[in-house]
Amino acid sequence: MELYKSNEIKVYNSLSKSKEVLKTINEGMIGMYVCGPTVYSNVHLGNVRTFMSFDMIYRYFLHLGYKVRYVRNITDAGHLENDADEGEDRIAKKARLEQLEPMEIVQRYTVDFHNILNTFNFLPPSIEPTATGHIVEQIEIVKDILEKGLAYEKNGSVYFDVLKYNETEHYGILSGRNIEDSIHNTRSLDGQSEKKNPQDFALWKKADERHIMRWPSPWSDGFPGWHLECSAMSTKYLGENFDIHGGGMDLKFPHHECEIAQSQTRNNVKPVNYWLHTNMLTLNGQKMAKSTGNYILPNDFFTGQSKHLSKAYLPSVVRFFMLQANYKSILDFSDAALLASEKGYFKLMDAIDLLDKLDVSNASTVDVESWKAKCYSAMNDDFNTPVLIANLFEGIKYINQIKEGNESIDDKDYEILKSTINSFVFDVLGLEKPSGSDNGSDKLKSVVEMLIGMRNDARENKNWALSDKIRDELLELGIQLKDGKDGTTFSIN
Ligand code: AMP
Ligand code: ZN
Repeated sequence: MELYKSNEIKVYNSLSKSKEVLKTINEGMIGMYVCGPTVYSNVHLGNVRTFMSFDMIYRYFLHLGYKVRYVRNITDAGHLENDADEGEDRIAKKARLEQLEPMEIVQRYTVDFHNILNTFNFLPPSIEPTATGHIVEQIEIVKDILEKGLAYEKNGSVYFDVLKYNETEHYGILSGRNIEDSIHNTRSLDGQSEKKNPQDFALWKKADERHIMRWPSPWSDGFPGWHLECSAMSTKYLGENFDIHGGGMDLKFPHHECEIAQSQTRNNVKPVNYWLHTNMLTLNGQKMAKSTGNYILPNDFFTGQSKHLSKAYLPSVVRFFMLQANYKSILDFSDAALLASEKGYFKLMDAIDLLDKLDVSNASTVDVESWKAKCYSAMNDDFNTPVLIANLFEGIKYINQIKEGNESIDDKDYEILKSTINSFVFDVLGLEKPSGSDNGSDKLKSVVEMLIGMRNDARENKNWALSDKIRDELLELGIQLKDGKDGTTFSIN
């Protein structure tokens, strides 16, 4: 029998603001959409935290035997810099600064994103659609919303009419914002804006002459509004109503609120049953963010070259550090906390090495069945990884006590202990053994991918000496890097 049949999962649904039993639309199947990165710069560790939380959730669903369609998009059509649909397109800005084609920027940072996620042992999603690959679908949604009378065109741009939508639906259902408050607290438009009301948001924007990323449409040569791509791609691949939509807390408003309004208007059904939001990674008590300079890049951990770090760390140690916190809690990064996680990680791995060498007895003195049940109930309680990890350490205590002869274990319990520890540590938490263990070739692959990432950074900074050094020294070791249009690959001679 599939494990999901005997494991009822409760998830915290941001829509109802309560924990609910997860009931999937189709038995044994889950459709999950997670907002992906905007590929205009390297992902920082905060971004990685959000994607890692969903990787862990995806892994647990798979472990329980669900058939999961996991869709995580790539935002490669430029967004404007601020929520008011103004400012410069972030990808185009970076392209201008670096004197590159916008699609070169997109390619570079998509490859970087994949390298980083591979290094941290992420599972790839089932579908990774791009915004630029779904312009036709986005234009169709705009046409449809215009036909329904919930959007209006002005000078070649199209805006969603939030106040009109709010007459029959609830704009603010997810974020808990009240439109009346927002009307009171917002300055009225100065007559310069094309919007009827400040609450309205762009579905389509006419491109000015400087704007490079543009597509033809019935209204103008322009580009889609920020929120539209996720409505288009989620419903295209998962249906008009699907199970789970995820992202960081900071996307709740306006991004997800607007996504609901668009999809609800288009299909006349609630688009998503469960909204899951992850909390932020902070550094010095402030949200990690590129825009403020308050961030650490993943590659810094592997070199240790950062003012925030005392040394280099393994990707699995960073992963363990993040999963020791609940995904809904703020996690503040510090070197001291990471050092403590490293200790815990090696304790776990040492015990796993011992696990294969335990002597089996005729009778058990440890209650493995109820320990195993506690591991599942931690994960069934809204993916509570810190409680799961505390339970895994209880399992480690058993291993050490059995080894020392203070407890004993019979054949059947021994198999349960081994399979439960291995499933949760490697399949669900996605940790990997440190190098020197038997999965050396996987480790080598991760290390080379990490060096490719560092070489990309060096090239970005025009540090050709370093990038050539990495390539040449790898070649001396018999590892040849090949630069192609999809990024850098390698072969071992
Ligand atoms: P972006 O590329 O800016 O759209 O961000 C990609 C994802 O990372 C989104 O789901 C954000 O909510 C998430 N994110 C951004 N900053 C942080 C942070 N400091 N901690 C956790 N998640 C973050
Ligand atoms: Zn999105």
